[in-house]
Amino acid sequence: MSGMQAVWPSGTECIAKYNFHGTAEQDLPFSKGDVLTIVAVTKITREQAERLLYPPETGLFLVRESTNYPGDYTLCVSCEGKVEHYRIIYSSSKLSIDEEVYFENLMQLVEHYTTDADGLCTRLIKPKVMEGTVAAQDEFSRSGWALNMKDLKLLQIIGKGEFGDVMLGDYRGNKVAVKCIKNDATAQAFLAEASVMTQLRHSNLVQLLGVIVEEKSGLYIVTEYMAKGSLVDYLRSRGRSVLGADCLLKFSLDVCEAMEYLEANNFVHRDLAARNVLVSEDNIAKVSDFGLTKEASSTQDTGKLPVKWTAPEALREKKFSTKSDVWSFGILLWEIYSFGRVPYPRIPLKDVVPRVEKGYKMDAPDGCPAVVYEVMKKCWTLDPGHRPSFHQLREQLVHIKEKELYL
Ligand code: AMP
Repeated sequence: MSGMQAVWPSGTECIAKYNFHGTAEQDLPFSKGDVLTIVAVTKITREQAERLLYPPETGLFLVRESTNYPGDYTLCVSCEGKVEHYRIIYSSSKLSIDEEVYFENLMQLVEHYTTDADGLCTRLIKPKVMEGTVAAQDEFSRSGWALNMKDLKLLQIIGKGEFGDVMLGDYRGNKVAVKCIKNDATAQAFLAEASVMTQLRHSNLVQLLGVIVEEKSGLYIVTEYMAKGSLVDYLRSRGRSVLGADCLLKFSLDVCEAMEYLEANNFVHRDLAARNVLVSEDNIAKVSDFGLTKEASSTQDTGKLPVKWTAPEALREKKFSTKSDVWSFGILLWEIYSFGRVPYPRIPLKDVVPRVEKGYKMDAPDGCPAVVYEVMKKCWTLDPGHRPSFHQLREQLVHIKEKELYL
């Protein structure tokens, strides 16, 4: 379980980035996206922790920031009707409870005491996860992202997302898009997405407006409304007769600028594709769907990856990077210039990866300018180190535009 930072800055949730499978049958595994409840955003007290661990359930635990020893953490564990609080000492970049066994990070520590009580009152059995409750509400209020449900009118369903419906809403007279979720199990992944979005601001990224966490009715992520829907649907429905060469190049540049921003800020999108780009009323393409977006240092499992869009090294070795996003950007360019066709047409899905790994590259879409096809092919360089950066890609696309090489 490497890769987690040893200490999370206060005010952040600690998102378990790895699936952790219990070691014994009775273990309740916690999975990627679960929030090991570092609810310590306000340095919660002993008493608050005890309330969060109520009703009693032996093995239920959370980690909070220590009130007495700032910078240290406290592990709070429910055991036979009582809550025990263990100070986690942080020294020389290592964490320890008993100053005998040391850990690189909290996940390792938690994993150790899940396997064996090793002096604690009980083995850790179940993390108290954020369930879209008070803790999450606090988190977003404190960071200024909490909106009031009273100001929001939900109007109609405009899309189906992975987590639930996407609705058109009215927030204080402005049209907004609202992702709604009622199911606690996916709430954490949803919160992770919102939490990434609070850190990002660019005119070609779909802007987060705020978050509503309601105890009863669930969770809502409110974003700017993109009237023309997803880029892939837009390309398919308008087609060649409506969308000219300048329009296609403009979409390509819009997305490239967003990606240059993510590159500069060390975020890796991991799911760049025309279905995850939305088009505004005034035809600006904006990158959306930060469900898989992570800071560049993290890793993730490769269970549900969109094979045709994902770079070979990311599929093979989980090596996600800005350069794997560059690969996906090449596929997205191909989608744009083919007016929303599904990549690798006529190749069965199972044959795509073996062929790509041998160096196969898609042909240029019909009518695609040769200069743009050259850009795509550079994105599909097998060695990620030899792919261009988004900064270079933007320069190339700007050059194509200014010299009118795309006509
Ligand atoms: P998603 O969960 O982000 O994949 O969204 C599912 C669908 O909902 C998209 O394909 C869009 O059609 C629609 N949608 C999502 N976000 C917005 C938005 N901000 N504005 C308009 N439509 C959206």
